[in-house]
Amino acid sequence: MNRELLRQYLAYYQDLGITHLYRFEPRAPAGGVVSEPRAPASGPSESLAVIREDLGDCRRCRLHEGRNKLVFGVGNEHAKLVFVGEGPGADEDAQGIPFVGRAGQLLTQMIEGTARKEGLPLLRQDVYICNVVKCRPPENRTPLPDEMETCGPFLVRQLLAIRPKAICLLGATAAKALLERKEGVTKMRGNWYRWRDIPVMVTYHPSYLLRPYNQSAKREAWEDLKKVLHYVYD
Ligand code: SF4
Repeated sequence: MNRELLRQYLAYYQDLGITHLYRFEPRAPAGGVVSEPRAPASGPSESLAVIREDLGDCRRCRLHEGRNKLVFGVGNEHAKLVFVGEGPGADEDAQGIPFVGRAGQLLTQMIEGTARKEGLPLLRQDVYICNVVKCRPPENRTPLPDEMETCGPFLVRQLLAIRPKAICLLGATAAKALLERKEGVTKMRGNWYRWRDIPVMVTYHPSYLLRPYNQSAKREAWEDLKKVLHYVYD
């Protein structure tokens, strides 16, 4: 396509009221394991406020039917580290804030406790936390593929807006959504992957760690977190 034709297309979209165009890029090629993460490139990006405004009173998928509050994300817009979970639970749905229930309290403890032990001055408010889907699935079921497909572009925009130094994916759903890999979390955790050019660590979802028989997983999750925090904040 030549420049003139491209200009005409853009003018046409502008007449239709479309002010943002997003280039489709295939997802990271099954997010290969990388031994040493590479820092992401920087560039112009939109603000989280614009993305939230676009989301509006979203009814793009069936999950809007049972929600009380849409749970967009919380934390520092310029965070160097972003945590991505699966979807809101009951407490999150009631408050409109991600990770505020028991699992959320454990995540906060893990972030702040690990940082303190490692001598890093980091609080929960310094990172950014969000989910793959922004509305609570009924009975806390796993989001369905079409729901993740519909809501996913907003997560992609959040991550591109923040451009963190690293992303930590909490649990299988987040890992599947961004990395499209077949292995389970047990196999993936502790390794570095890449989403676009951003280093990604996969670890257990805090709600999995709350189960009493998963204490060894808890230790592993602390190890994963330590690795991420040192990479991002050292
Ligand atoms: S889950 Fe996402 S796409 Fe579905 S209604 Fe909620 S905000 Fe919209």
